[in-house]
Amino acid sequence: MAPPDFADQDAFPSLASLPTTEDSDEGLSGKWWLVVQIKERMTITKPTVVAADREGVDLAVTFEEAGVDESAWRKGRCLVIPQARRTVGKATGFVRVPEGQAGSVKTVPGGWDVLRRMGDVSDSTCAGCGGEGTSRCLGCGVVRYCGKECQVAGWTGGHKGECKGFKAIREIWGDEANE
Ligand SMILES: [Zn+2]
Ligand SMILES: [Zn+2]
Repeated sequence: MAPPDFADQDAFPSLASLPTTEDSDEGLSGKWWLVVQIKERMTITKPTVVAADREGVDLAVTFEEAGVDESAWRKGRCLVIPQARRTVGKATGFVRVPEGQAGSVKTVPGGWDVLRRMGDVSDSTCAGCGGEGTSRCLGCGVVRYCGKECQVAGWTGGHKGECKGFKAIREIWGDEANE
């Protein structure tokens, strides 16, 4: 698969460039995802995290429904919120996930650095030596290697820390990114 282009700020906007809850649907086209990196969980009454957008600007993300599974919300991971809108009239950044939409919000076990690295992965050559990438990593199905030696070196050399993140990205955007 071709990874999504995370540099595309129309598809992956910052908090400041999100449509607001008061904007009409008119003029909004296509799909967008707010990707934020979790800083801390702040659930008091409603499930809430404090997170940073792609520019490092802090915001709070609150879910309007109870019973949301928060177990994957660890510091440093990313939340992916489709069609997110910014709530107006708040001093700080604020995004609400409406009732019934918590299921569309996904977690990537990795930060923005993992997302950006995914964009550099070759779909044909070995990630180790640059030779022919004849096999894929079984974990993520994304990174290619020429053989066992490069695979082991790649794993201990850093892929271990990004493999699960790559897998999640592939599962979220897999076919959609190729549309
Ligand atoms: Zn190789
Ligand atoms: Zn992998």
